[in-house]
Amino acid sequence: MTARRKPSTETPVFPKPGHNHARCASEALRKAEAVCTARKTRLTDIRRQVLELIWQSHVPVGAYEILSQLNAGGGRTAPIAVYRALEFLMDNGLVHRLASLNAYIGCAHMGDDHHAAQFLICRTCGTTAELESAPLKRALTHAVAERGFSIDSQIVEISGVCPHCRATA
Ligand SMILES: [Zn+2]
Ligand SMILES: [Zn+2]
Ligand SMILES: [Zn+2]
Repeated sequence: MTARRKPSTETPVFPKPGHNHARCASEALRKAEAVCTARKTRLTDIRRQVLELIWQSHVPVGAYEILSQLNAGGGRTAPIAVYRALEFLMDNGLVHRLASLNAYIGCAHMGDDHHAAQFLICRTCGTTAELESAPLKRALTHAVAERGFSIDSQIVEISGVCPHCRATA
Protein backbone atom coordinates (compact mmCIF):
# COMPACT_ATOMS: atom_id res chain seq x y z
CA MET A 1 0.00 0.00 0.00
CA THR A 2 1.32 3.44 -0.83
CA ALA A 3 0.74 6.56 1.21
CA ARG A 4 -2.13 8.63 -0.02
CA ARG A 5 -1.09 11.80 -1.78
CA LYS A 6 -4.49 13.20 -2.29
CA PRO A 7 -4.19 16.99 -2.44
CA SER A 8 -5.92 18.57 0.50
CA THR A 9 -8.80 20.49 -0.97
CA GLU A 10 -11.18 20.59 1.97
CA THR A 11 -11.49 23.86 3.83
CA PRO A 12 -9.52 23.55 7.04
CA VAL A 13 -11.65 24.00 10.11
CA PHE A 14 -10.14 25.64 13.15
CA PRO A 15 -10.05 22.95 15.88
CA LYS A 16 -13.00 23.50 18.20
CA PRO A 17 -12.60 23.27 21.97
CA GLY A 18 -14.05 20.00 23.22
CA HIS A 19 -13.85 18.21 19.87
CA ASN A 20 -13.00 14.53 19.85
CA HIS A 21 -9.26 15.07 20.00
CA ALA A 22 -8.49 11.45 20.83
CA ARG A 23 -9.65 10.78 17.28
CA CYS A 24 -7.33 13.45 15.79
CA ALA A 25 -4.43 11.95 17.72
CA SER A 26 -5.09 8.32 16.84
CA GLU A 27 -5.72 9.22 13.22
CA ALA A 28 -2.42 11.16 13.13
CA LEU A 29 -0.50 8.26 14.61
CA ARG A 30 -2.07 5.88 12.13
CA LYS A 31 -1.12 8.16 9.21
CA ALA A 32 2.40 8.56 10.56
CA GLU A 33 2.80 4.77 10.63
CA ALA A 34 1.58 4.60 7.01
CA VAL A 35 4.00 7.34 5.90
CA CYS A 36 6.91 5.55 7.60
CA THR A 37 5.97 2.22 6.05
CA ALA A 38 5.71 3.81 2.60
CA ARG A 39 9.12 5.43 3.10
CA LYS A 40 10.61 2.17 4.37
CA THR A 41 11.58 3.77 7.62
CA ARG A 42 10.45 3.12 11.16
CA LEU A 43 8.49 4.98 13.76
CA THR A 44 10.65 3.79 16.65
CA ASP A 45 9.41 4.01 20.26
CA ILE A 46 11.01 7.38 20.95
CA ARG A 47 9.78 8.86 17.65
CA ARG A 48 6.28 7.61 18.36
CA GLN A 49 6.32 8.92 21.94
CA VAL A 50 7.48 12.35 20.79
CA LEU A 51 4.82 12.41 18.08
CA GLU A 52 2.15 11.40 20.62
CA LEU A 53 3.22 14.23 22.93
CA ILE A 54 3.07 16.71 20.05
CA TRP A 55 -0.40 15.46 19.16
CA GLN A 56 -1.73 15.72 22.71
CA SER A 57 -3.33 18.98 21.58
CA HIS A 58 -3.38 21.55 18.78
CA VAL A 59 -1.11 23.82 20.79
CA PRO A 60 2.54 23.75 19.67
CA VAL A 61 4.92 22.26 22.20
CA GLY A 62 8.59 23.00 22.86
CA ALA A 63 11.38 20.43 22.94
CA TYR A 64 12.00 20.90 26.66
CA GLU A 65 8.37 20.40 27.49
CA ILE A 66 8.44 17.19 25.44
CA LEU A 67 11.54 16.07 27.29
CA SER A 68 10.14 16.79 30.72
CA GLN A 69 6.88 15.00 29.91
CA LEU A 70 8.81 12.02 28.56
CA ASN A 71 10.80 11.83 31.76
CA ALA A 72 7.92 12.64 34.09
CA GLY A 73 7.54 8.99 35.03
CA GLY A 74 11.19 8.77 36.10
CA GLY A 75 12.54 8.14 32.59
CA ARG A 76 16.01 9.27 31.61
CA THR A 77 15.65 10.18 27.96
CA ALA A 78 18.48 12.51 26.92
CA PRO A 79 17.74 15.84 25.19
CA ILE A 80 19.72 14.71 22.13
CA ALA A 81 17.34 11.75 21.69
CA VAL A 82 14.37 14.13 21.65
CA TYR A 83 16.08 16.42 19.13
CA ARG A 84 16.94 13.48 16.90
CA ALA A 85 13.35 12.24 17.05
CA LEU A 86 12.09 15.75 16.20
CA GLU A 87 14.49 15.95 13.29
CA PHE A 88 13.25 12.61 11.98
CA LEU A 89 9.62 13.70 12.33
CA MET A 90 10.35 16.97 10.50
CA ASP A 91 12.39 15.31 7.75
CA ASN A 92 9.51 12.96 7.08
CA GLY A 93 6.88 15.69 7.02
CA LEU A 94 5.15 14.53 10.19
CA VAL A 95 5.67 17.67 12.25
CA HIS A 96 6.53 21.32 11.63
CA ARG A 97 8.66 23.66 13.68
CA LEU A 98 7.20 27.07 14.33
CA ALA A 99 10.13 29.47 14.54
CA SER A 100 8.14 32.26 16.19
CA LEU A 101 7.34 29.99 19.14
CA ASN A 102 10.33 27.65 18.96
CA ALA A 103 7.80 24.84 19.21
CA TYR A 104 6.47 21.89 17.23
CA ILE A 105 3.07 21.06 15.81
CA GLY A 106 1.79 17.91 14.15
CA CYS A 107 1.38 18.19 10.39
CA ALA A 108 -2.22 18.23 9.23
CA HIS A 109 -1.28 16.93 5.77
CA MET A 110 1.18 14.17 6.55
CA GLY A 111 2.81 12.51 3.62
CA ASP A 112 2.14 15.41 1.29
CA ASP A 113 5.82 16.35 1.17
CA HIS A 114 5.10 20.01 1.52
CA HIS A 115 7.77 22.53 2.35
CA ALA A 116 5.20 25.27 2.24
CA ALA A 117 2.62 25.71 4.91
CA GLN A 118 0.77 28.49 6.59
CA PHE A 119 -0.14 28.44 10.25
CA LEU A 120 -2.81 30.37 12.06
CA ILE A 121 -1.63 30.73 15.65
CA CYS A 122 -4.11 31.90 18.29
CA ARG A 123 -2.31 34.16 20.74
CA THR A 124 -5.04 33.63 23.32
CA CYS A 125 -5.41 29.86 23.58
CA GLY A 126 -2.36 28.80 21.58
CA THR A 127 -4.39 26.60 19.24
CA THR A 128 -2.70 26.44 15.88
CA ALA A 129 -4.26 25.38 12.61
CA GLU A 130 -2.42 24.53 9.42
CA LEU A 131 -3.70 26.03 6.23
CA GLU A 132 -2.53 24.63 2.99
CA SER A 133 -3.63 27.27 0.59
CA ALA A 134 -2.55 26.54 -2.98
CA PRO A 135 -3.43 30.06 -4.27
CA LEU A 136 -1.44 31.62 -1.42
CA LYS A 137 1.52 29.37 -2.11
CA ARG A 138 1.39 30.18 -5.84
CA ALA A 139 1.18 33.92 -5.18
CA LEU A 140 4.18 33.82 -2.83
CA THR A 141 6.22 31.62 -5.15
CA HIS A 142 5.50 34.00 -8.01
CA ALA A 143 6.34 37.12 -6.02
CA VAL A 144 9.58 35.55 -4.81
CA ALA A 145 10.61 34.24 -8.25
CA GLU A 146 10.22 37.75 -9.67
CA ARG A 147 12.97 38.81 -7.30
CA GLY A 148 15.27 36.04 -8.48
CA PHE A 149 15.17 34.27 -5.13
CA SER A 150 15.05 30.49 -4.79
CA ILE A 151 12.97 29.06 -1.95
CA ASP A 152 14.07 26.29 0.42
CA SER A 153 11.11 26.36 2.69
CA GLN A 154 8.11 28.55 2.95
CA ILE A 155 6.55 28.54 6.37
CA VAL A 156 4.22 31.41 7.11
CA GLU A 157 3.25 31.98 10.73
CA ILE A 158 0.20 34.14 11.22
CA SER A 159 -0.63 35.30 14.72
CA GLY A 160 -4.12 36.34 15.75
CA VAL A 161 -7.23 35.25 17.65
CA CYS A 162 -9.12 32.08 16.78
CA PRO A 163 -12.90 32.05 16.15
CA HIS A 164 -13.57 30.37 19.50
CA CYS A 165 -11.59 32.89 21.53
CA ARG A 166 -13.23 35.70 19.58
CA ALA A 167 -16.66 34.26 20.37
CA THR A 168 -15.91 34.11 24.09
CA ALA A 169 -14.10 37.47 24.32
ZN1 LIG B 1 -7.92 17.56 17.69
ZN1 LIG C 1 2.02 20.22 7.29
ZN1 LIG D 1 -7.97 30.68 20.59
